[in-house]
Amino acid sequence: MDPQVIEFLDPKNIRMLIDGEFVQAVSGETFATVDPASGRKIAEVPKADARDVDLAVAAARRALDHSSWRHMLPADRQLLLLRLADLIEENGEKIAQLETLDQGQLIDVARFVQVEMAADFIRYMAGWATKLEGSALDLSVREPIGAGIRYQAYTRREPVGVVAAIVPWNFPHLMALWKIVPALACGCTVVLKPAEDTPLTAIHLARLIQKAGFPKGVVNVITGTGQEVGAPLAAHPGVNKVAFTGSTRVGQAIGHAAIENMTRFSVETGGKSPVLVLDDIDPDFLGPNAAMATFFNHGQQCVAGSRVYLPRKRFDDYMERILDMTELLKVGSGFDNRVHVGPMVSKVHHERVMGYIDRSREAGAKIASGGESVEGTEGYFIRPTVITDVDHGFECVREEIFGPVLTVMPYNTLDELVELANDSKYGLAASIWSQNISKINMLIPRIQAGTVWVNCHGVFDANLPFGGRKLSGIGREHGRAAINLFTEEKTVCIAY
Ligand code: NAD
Repeated sequence: MDPQVIEFLDPKNIRMLIDGEFVQAVSGETFATVDPASGRKIAEVPKADARDVDLAVAAARRALDHSSWRHMLPADRQLLLLRLADLIEENGEKIAQLETLDQGQLIDVARFVQVEMAADFIRYMAGWATKLEGSALDLSVREPIGAGIRYQAYTRREPVGVVAAIVPWNFPHLMALWKIVPALACGCTVVLKPAEDTPLTAIHLARLIQKAGFPKGVVNVITGTGQEVGAPLAAHPGVNKVAFTGSTRVGQAIGHAAIENMTRFSVETGGKSPVLVLDDIDPDFLGPNAAMATFFNHGQQCVAGSRVYLPRKRFDDYMERILDMTELLKVGSGFDNRVHVGPMVSKVHHERVMGYIDRSREAGAKIASGGESVEGTEGYFIRPTVITDVDHGFECVREEIFGPVLTVMPYNTLDELVELANDSKYGLAASIWSQNISKINMLIPRIQAGTVWVNCHGVFDANLPFGGRKLSGIGREHGRAAINLFTEEKTVCIAY
């Protein structure tokens, strides 16, 4: 382990950030965060409640209304964000190791996603700070109101205000930055609440934010449970916008709480993304890609391609290659470079995923590979699992499992394929696998999903809008779309 990780884990460093100060919770209480690969406690983390939420929101409000942040030049906001990107890279190995320790993520994935992708994302979004714009509008106000008067009108984009960022545990550092950075680029202030299972990289990020030189109160980081911190934060009248990623159930609760105060909200929630395989694709290309569409990050990804549809006439051929790939995957600690699939994030989540597998078996599905926990370890490991012989009404086809569980089903015609792919309450993403451009172009508009990938799955870029349809969420993050999430449009009309 990097000595800097051990140094960071000194109890005196594990603090929240409120109003520029590193603090314990008002209650003085803490909770344990656990290494999912060993079941061992890593650190005690402050356990905030509604009192800490009040303090953090008040600090963010003061910073918004009264600090130098309010009048900071866009170019200076951009510079602060660029400095943060540099600091993330300088501390990259420490961040990656902290994430692997706390989340269980493979270390190479953590290096790529939590550090490289994070720095790229910040640098992209930093550029938006200097590119916010409105429109000049020509008016046609008639007499008598407009008698002898002319008008000049325009719109401007202003920060939406205090942003509550509530994030999940699957890609903790990147998810936090996906919310914080566009908010800061737009001139907002932020209260960040990381997931209780993975608070460490957010606590570390608070240190880097201070070091980058953001004025006090611009970013506040509070740790605790969804009930004790997330719920009061979403319902807080001092919050102007909630940016959430997590489950549909909590996304809906946040929407209800937010609407009481007309707080703006965007929610990125779950998915059950279909993988649509046409009959012309090379099985050797398909097998690894179809398997990894789900098994990447141990299936703990909202875009997991966990429903694979194969043409009936090539079912056995394609299925064989998917199973070949699945059986090659080695399960173990994220720190072991030979491993492909790490642990579930927590004991509770391990039990939840195993419950889905057990109930599928009981319902009569065939477990074609995996289907069990890894014995002889204290970690929360599950073998990559492939399920077949299901009815489309089975739970494993309909519910988001969020673990290494893939269900494979046959189809007969392209119309049936579209029907099956859309037969889901979710609409986050989908992928189509074929070389037939006519069929691909015919399918794309018929698929009910926020993103459709073709011959790839799970590709993200700061310039690619991302978000869900149906129960997968409201709003689009990234790219220009993110700016609309964190600004309000003001209309100005001047008579002269
Ligand atoms: P979760 O919804 O339980 O928790 C997400 C966050 O919300 C955590 O910080 C949690 O503490 C907080 N929270 C919990 N209850 C709350 C409440 N009542 N009010 C306010 N905040 C509350 O989800 P999770 O278990 O952390 O993450 C897994 C889920 O997230 C999966 O369902 C997955 O699909 C979804 N997810 C979606 C996306 C996406 O982009 N659409 C990305 C990642 C994860």
